[in-house]
Amino acid sequence: MYCGTALGLDLATLDHVYPLSRGGTHDPGNLVAACQTCNQLKGAMLPNEFFARHPWAGANFMRYARAVHRNFKRGARRAVSLACAHAA
Ligand SMILES: [Zn+2]
Repeated sequence: MYCGTALGLDLATLDHVYPLSRGGTHDPGNLVAACQTCNQLKGAMLPNEFFARHPWAGANFMRYARAVHRNFKRGARRAVSLACAHAA
Protein backbone atom coordinates (compact mmCIF):
# COMPACT_ATOMS: atom_id res chain seq x y z
CA MET A 1 0.00 0.00 0.00
CA TYR A 2 2.71 2.50 0.92
CA CYS A 3 6.00 1.35 -0.58
CA GLY A 4 4.46 -0.75 -3.37
CA THR A 5 6.35 -3.92 -2.46
CA ALA A 6 4.54 -7.08 -3.50
CA LEU A 7 3.51 -8.92 -0.34
CA GLY A 8 2.81 -12.53 0.43
CA LEU A 9 0.28 -13.25 3.17
CA ASP A 10 3.16 -14.19 5.44
CA LEU A 11 4.64 -10.67 5.19
CA ALA A 12 1.52 -8.52 4.99
CA THR A 13 0.25 -6.67 8.03
CA LEU A 14 -3.02 -4.78 8.45
CA ASP A 15 -2.51 -1.08 8.90
CA HIS A 16 -5.16 1.25 10.31
CA VAL A 17 -5.02 4.26 7.98
CA TYR A 18 -6.40 6.39 10.80
CA PRO A 19 -4.66 4.89 13.85
CA LEU A 20 -6.92 3.54 16.59
CA SER A 21 -5.15 5.83 19.03
CA ARG A 22 -6.14 8.83 16.88
CA GLY A 23 -9.82 7.97 16.56
CA GLY A 24 -9.64 5.41 13.74
CA THR A 25 -11.92 2.37 13.66
CA HIS A 26 -11.72 -1.29 12.62
CA ASP A 27 -13.95 -0.48 9.64
CA PRO A 28 -12.70 -2.28 6.50
CA GLY A 29 -12.44 1.14 4.84
CA ASN A 30 -9.82 2.08 7.40
CA LEU A 31 -7.70 -1.04 6.89
CA VAL A 32 -5.03 -1.53 4.26
CA ALA A 33 -2.32 -4.09 3.66
CA ALA A 34 1.14 -2.81 4.45
CA CYS A 35 4.52 -4.42 4.93
CA GLN A 36 5.87 -4.50 8.46
CA THR A 37 8.47 -1.83 7.69
CA CYS A 38 5.87 0.70 6.52
CA ASN A 39 3.50 -0.18 9.32
CA GLN A 40 6.20 0.51 11.89
CA LEU A 41 7.35 3.63 10.06
CA LYS A 42 3.82 4.99 10.09
CA GLY A 43 3.17 4.03 13.70
CA ALA A 44 0.50 6.31 15.19
CA MET A 45 0.82 9.02 12.56
CA LEU A 46 -2.25 10.27 10.73
CA PRO A 47 -2.07 9.56 6.99
CA ASN A 48 -1.37 13.21 6.17
CA GLU A 49 1.47 13.34 8.72
CA PHE A 50 2.91 10.14 7.30
CA PHE A 51 2.67 11.35 3.70
CA ALA A 52 4.21 14.71 4.59
CA ARG A 53 7.21 12.89 5.97
CA HIS A 54 7.33 10.18 3.30
CA PRO A 55 5.92 11.52 0.00
CA TRP A 56 6.57 8.21 -1.79
CA ALA A 57 4.04 6.58 0.52
CA GLY A 58 1.41 9.16 -0.45
CA ALA A 59 2.10 8.58 -4.13
CA ASN A 60 1.64 4.82 -3.84
CA PHE A 61 -1.39 5.31 -1.63
CA MET A 62 -3.05 7.47 -4.28
CA ARG A 63 -2.18 4.98 -7.00
CA TYR A 64 -3.81 2.25 -4.97
CA ALA A 65 -6.82 4.36 -4.00
CA ARG A 66 -7.48 5.16 -7.64
CA ALA A 67 -7.92 1.44 -8.25
CA VAL A 68 -10.45 0.98 -5.45
CA HIS A 69 -13.79 2.55 -4.73
CA ARG A 70 -14.73 6.19 -4.81
CA ASN A 71 -15.22 6.83 -1.09
CA PHE A 72 -11.77 5.58 -0.37
CA LYS A 73 -10.33 7.70 -3.15
CA ARG A 74 -11.94 10.81 -1.67
CA GLY A 75 -10.41 10.09 1.74
CA ALA A 76 -7.03 9.40 0.18
CA ARG A 77 -7.09 12.62 -1.79
CA ARG A 78 -7.95 14.59 1.34
CA ALA A 79 -5.10 12.97 3.26
CA VAL A 80 -2.63 13.64 0.46
CA SER A 81 -3.67 17.27 0.01
CA LEU A 82 -3.43 17.79 3.78
CA ALA A 83 0.05 16.32 3.61
CA CYS A 84 1.01 18.69 0.82
CA ALA A 85 -0.38 21.69 2.68
CA HIS A 86 1.54 20.52 5.71
CA ALA A 87 4.78 20.17 3.78
CA ALA A 88 4.46 23.54 2.03
ZN1 LIG B 1 6.10 -1.14 2.73
